[in-house]
Amino acid sequence: MIVLHTIADFRAFRRSLPSAALTPFVPTMGALHEGHASLIRQARAMESPPDAPNQRGTVLASIFVNPTQFGPSEDYTRYPRTLEADLALLEQNGAQAVFVPSAEEIYPTLKTLDVPLDSHGLVTIDPGPLASRFEGEIRPGHFRGVCTIVAKLLNIVEPSHLLLGQKDFQQQAILRRMCLDLNMPVELVTCPTVREPDGLALSSRNRYLSPDERARAVALFEALTTAHTAYQQGERRASRLETIMRDRLQARGTVPQYAAVAHAATLEPVADAVTPPAVLLIAAKLGATRLIDNMLLP
Ligand code: AMP
Repeated sequence: MIVLHTIADFRAFRRSLPSAALTPFVPTMGALHEGHASLIRQARAMESPPDAPNQRGTVLASIFVNPTQFGPSEDYTRYPRTLEADLALLEQNGAQAVFVPSAEEIYPTLKTLDVPLDSHGLVTIDPGPLASRFEGEIRPGHFRGVCTIVAKLLNIVEPSHLLLGQKDFQQQAILRRMCLDLNMPVELVTCPTVREPDGLALSSRNRYLSPDERARAVALFEALTTAHTAYQQGERRASRLETIMRDRLQARGTVPQYAAVAHAATLEPVADAVTPPAVLLIAAKLGATRLIDNMLLP
């Protein structure tokens, strides 16, 4: 596995790859876990293109804690950084090249994080209407930072496929729209959420939880599965499904930030009767840590 730190080096490597070969790409912020590993394995398993049947793809990844998607009071400086273990995990799961740039390499003119990204005089990507609710409402500027860094990475990496986790449902929906609306030549693949045995979705932020909070964090999965079961048993009132989720979150002593039923593509909240494709979206706080999760309603 080759590790590249500069844009120039990555581009030179990229140019050396056969043009017909698949180049699936998994962007990450490091602190990698089995959820990230599953994305790399899914990239590895992708078929060779029909016009080059013997040409195995080249699995590409990046590790970059993107400062511009964190709010001023969020955890940018204390976000876990575990580079050596991350590189080992990527290599073991089949990544062939990893881009690990510095913040200066990516944002040569960014001076402070205390002002919105677009106040730097930088050209940024407007995340569009899907960013107005849920995470976008609670974390102003977050999706502008996400779209901007992913657009930058796509310009540098030029992958055939972009693999994202369903875990960050709103993120993958917004990035899908970005690629569509900006005619970006990449195919987006959403990969299933990997969970702990009790159902807690793996997240780099789970390591912030105290043992007591970790035990109560199962509330998110319980809330989703309880609402999902009610839906399967015929409950179609969005308000009822939302109440079921909130009750579950509160019963475990977590503080719900939102618990909603939304259209799976537009993320418009469902006002009354739920029709597919819909998604249950939740965010809750345990102490200082916020966790998010989601589940599709078939
Ligand atoms: P992050 O490093 O948190 O930015 O995540 C990098 C990618 O891994 C994103 O596409 C996430 O959605 C995905 N991811 C994070 N956690 C999981 C998980 N538990 N299962 C599947 N994918 C995940």
